[in-house]
Formats: sequence, structure tokens, C-alpha cells
Amino acid sequence: MKVFKGKSLSPGYGEGQALVYHSGALHNAPLRFIDPSGIDGEIHRFDNAIQNSMKELDGLKEKFMEELGQAEIGIFDAHLALLKDADFAKKVKKRISEELINVEHAVEKEIDDLAGLLAKVENEYLRERNQDIRDVGRRILKNLNHTGTMGQLRLLSPNTVLVTKELLPSDTLEMDRKNIAAIVTERGGPQSHAAILARSLGIPSVTGLEGITKEIKTGDRVLVDAQAGVVTISPSLEKAGQFTDAKNIYDDLNLEEKRNEFKDSITLDGVEVELFANIGRPEEITDINLHYLKGVGLFRTEFLFMESPHPPSLELQTKVYCSLAKQLGKLPLTIRTLDLGGDKQPAFLTDEMKINPELELRGVRYSLAHEDLFCTQLRAILRASLQGNVKILFPMVTGVDELQEALRILKHAAHLEKISDLPRIGAMIETPAAVFEVDEILKIMDYVSIGTNDLTQFMLAADRNILVSMNTFSELHPSLLKAVKKIVDSSVEMKKDVCICGEAAGYPEVACLFAGIGVRQLSMSPIRAAKVRSHIRRHNLAELKDFAEKSLKAKSVQEVRKIFEDFSINKHATQSVSA
Ligand code: PEP
Ligand code: MG
Repeated sequence: MKVFKGKSLSPGYGEGQALVYHSGALHNAPLRFIDPSGIDGEIHRFDNAIQNSMKELDGLKEKFMEELGQAEIGIFDAHLALLKDADFAKKVKKRISEELINVEHAVEKEIDDLAGLLAKVENEYLRERNQDIRDVGRRILKNLNHTGTMGQLRLLSPNTVLVTKELLPSDTLEMDRKNIAAIVTERGGPQSHAAILARSLGIPSVTGLEGITKEIKTGDRVLVDAQAGVVTISPSLEKAGQFTDAKNIYDDLNLEEKRNEFKDSITLDGVEVELFANIGRPEEITDINLHYLKGVGLFRTEFLFMESPHPPSLELQTKVYCSLAKQLGKLPLTIRTLDLGGDKQPAFLTDEMKINPELELRGVRYSLAHEDLFCTQLRAILRASLQGNVKILFPMVTGVDELQEALRILKHAAHLEKISDLPRIGAMIETPAAVFEVDEILKIMDYVSIGTNDLTQFMLAADRNILVSMNTFSELHPSLLKAVKKIVDSSVEMKKDVCICGEAAGYPEVACLFAGIGVRQLSMSPIRAAKVRSHIRRHNLAELKDFAEKSLKAKSVQEVRKIFEDFSINKHATQSVSA
């Protein structure tokens, strides 16, 4: 028996026979020099391959429409965008006609260049997009009748554990899913599209196991515990028994989640903790129904500003916000005003602003320094407020002076729009300054929303991405829990709503802890709602309060985690915090 410890990419347990599969790289398309008279023929083949690749992707999109959320469906659009990219086509054709090489080789070189550029960028999300570029390249090559690996996973034996260096998104989509028990990879981050798809399709996956494709042989019996990130080859009888027990518990919990799918998130004694969605793109609105959520608790509007060299017009913003407000009807749509800075750097920001992105003029302070841009966004939001249940949320606030200034501009925008009834207005509490000013903030706001992502990084003085990659569970730091308690107590006392919209709200045990502290609204990635709901429904309020009181007395993250373990119904539920 051999045991390896990696990282979980998609939760669950899977066991079966290994299939070691070599994918990922393009497959050294043979170089063939062509005669100038052959240029047109090669270009024609390229155009055909692009058309066929687009048809395939359209077909896949249609096929998975029901099964995947809108965010995942967007992956197809990203691939289609490259196929439609005129610049990409121009460069391939230029290689064919200038270097006089065959189309396969021209495509491969161009894709290598593009993917190589992306592989070097610092931002992890963008870096992982290099997989998508290579995936599209593979699809084009396949449609040029080049024998690569694409499509090789369409027929598999039952209970296959796929072992590979790296999986590309189309592998995950096109594989014979009913026969896949789990996926084990050497590399691939949680943000990669292959990982996102594996999570959506419920395939347990473990990564970060350098060299595993050499350790495991096709046909080996493998256990994959994607809760703890552990892979076992040729397990002992004892190990196999423990694995089966853990898997059975996990399957039962999953069944419970399914049964609760369309029930409210209420404690055993009937206290509701409302669940809302965090969305970053309009298409994600369909996830509200899919995951039975009570509306949008956080609409990050930055995407509108990220995609063009100019800030979006009043008309464009009005169209987007109004459409969402109408679709949600009575359910709230919390529109957060522009929160540039940090990892959100649009093209129109000057280079000086990118030197220390986490600490530049961010959030509402950036908006206040660009009054026209801010006023335009507020006008569009006000227009949308006539179409539905809109709430405004100001990000990265440090105190009342900024909010008073923001309110002044909001009133000016309302005057321009001739709107007298303002929507509800709230502030994000995500800086230590705002925590201490929360009483004053609550006097002039209708509600507050706690952004634990930024609050954690600013309270612990460490970049949030570093904290995530260190897996330190820093949101559970005693100082953070005390800050949350202070904000919640003040809000309850002043009879104002308080929501938590940082990532932590989507971890089931942390959500229970927040509920025990007194939070009655949580906003999270929709995909996390089912687990949170199931956990809330397992306890009564007294248990949650007891859990919160104990956690608030802890002196370290480790102590809090120990309390979590005791609180959880079983160990496996606890592990989902780390998944
Ligand atoms: C937060 O900081 O917790 C938050 C929800 O905002 P964002 O992640 O967009 O910075
Ligand atoms: Mg934030």
C-alpha cells in the first residue's frame, strides 16, 4: 500500500482501477513545409477546422445547459471567443503564408506562444487560463484530423480512476462520466476550468501530486479521498474498510443535501438564516433559482469596468442593472458600487495605480475621487431601483465621512434622475477602521454587509491570496470572530440588517458559527448554498449559540478548529471546511 497527500479540488470519495492518461500538451504536430501554391489550401483547412470546432462547442454548450450553472457554461463562451478571434486567425494564416508551413504546425506554434504568455502572468486566475488556450488548440488540431488525445476518454471501464499530469476542460466534459470514479492530477489549480467543471459535475478530484503518473500504473486499485486530498494505491484491507465507512457517511450527507435542496435554511427550532447569492456576472442570476436562494446579497459590478479600455456608459450600466432587477422581481438585488483595486485592475487604471494594488485608493474612495464615474453608476442603479427591489452597497468604507460624501453624490444622482424614493443603502464592513466605526456607520446606513475576505487580509496584515494558499483558516482568527461579533451586536442593537458576504459565509461550519453569533443573512457562491442549508437545518439555535460562545473564547485558530471538530456531526462534515 502507498499513500499520497495532495490537495482537494473537488470533494467526495471515489475508488476503482487506475487509468494513467497522458493529455495536456499539444501533440507535436509534424512540421511540413508547403509550396506557395499550397497556401490557400492550408488556409481553407484552417477555416474549416475553426468552423467545425465552433459547431462542436455549440453542441457541448447545448448538451450541458441544464446540468451546469451559467458560470460554468461561460467556459464554452471563452473557448468560442478564441475561435472567433480575428487576431488569432490572422496570426496563424500569416505563419502559413510567410513561414510556408502546414496549418497544424502553425496552429501549434501560435497556441504555444499564447499559452506561454499567459503561463507567466502573476494573477493565478489568468495564469490558469493557459489551459483553456491549449484546450482550444487541441480541438482545432483534432478537427484537422491530427491524432491527439482529444476524445480518448469517451469510453471507459466502470469505476475508472483517471490519473494524469493535467486535465484540460474538454477532457472533463467529454469523458465517459458515468464510469469515472475520481480524478487524480499532478497539477492544476482550484481556479482552472477543469477543476470548476469537476466540482459542478460532482467528480471527486485531488491534485498537487507531482510524479503520481509514474507511481500509479494503469490497472492499480486506487482509493481517492478528495475530502482530505489523500490517494491510496493498493490499499490494505483495513484502509479499504475505513474508506468505505467514510464514503458511506459522505453519501448519506449528500442525500440529505439533495432532500433539503428546495427547503428553507432554518434551524430545528424554526429560526431562518436567509441565504443569498454572490454574483459577478449577469448570467449567474439563473443560479438563484437553481440553488433556491433569497436574492442577490452581493453583485460585484467590476466586470463591467474590466472588459473595456473605457468605463461603461450610463446606458450600458442601466441595461444590465435593470435587466437583473426585473428578473429578480421582489427578491433583493444588492448592487455593490465599483470596487476597483486589489485583484480588480481595469485597463483604464493608470500604471501608478498598479504598484501596490491592495493599498491604492480602493472601493468607495476611488469612486469619490472620480465623481463623474461614480455619479454615472449611481444613476444607472437608481433607474434599476424603479424596476425591482434594489439595494445599494458601498465597498471598502473606512468611516462616516466617506459615506456622507457618497450620500451627497447619490442625492445629486437622484436629483438628476428625478427620483425621490431612494433604495436601501448599506456599507461593507471590510476594513478594521469600519469595524471600530460601525456604530456611527449604522446611524446613517440601512444595513451593513461584512466582507470577511478583505477584513481578514487587513486585520491580519497579509495578502488574502497568500492566506488562502497557506490554508491557515485565517477567517477563524480570534480577532476576526470578535470583530464579527462586535458588528453583529451593534446591528442587532440598532435593529439594522447585517449580512456576511465574504467567502467564509459559504463554509458550512463557519456559517453555523455566524448564525450562532446572531447573523440571519449570509451571501455566498450559489454552489455552496446546499451544504450550508443542510448544516443549519441540523441544529437548534441554542446549539449554534453554544458553538459560537465556545469559539469566541478560543485563543487561536487551532483552538477554534478543535471546537469545530467537536461541533460537527462527524469528522467528514468538518473536512468539508477545508475542501
Ligand atoms: C470581501 O472582501 O469579503 C468581499 C465580499 O468583497 P470582494 O471579495 O469582492 O473584495
Ligand atoms: Mg472586499
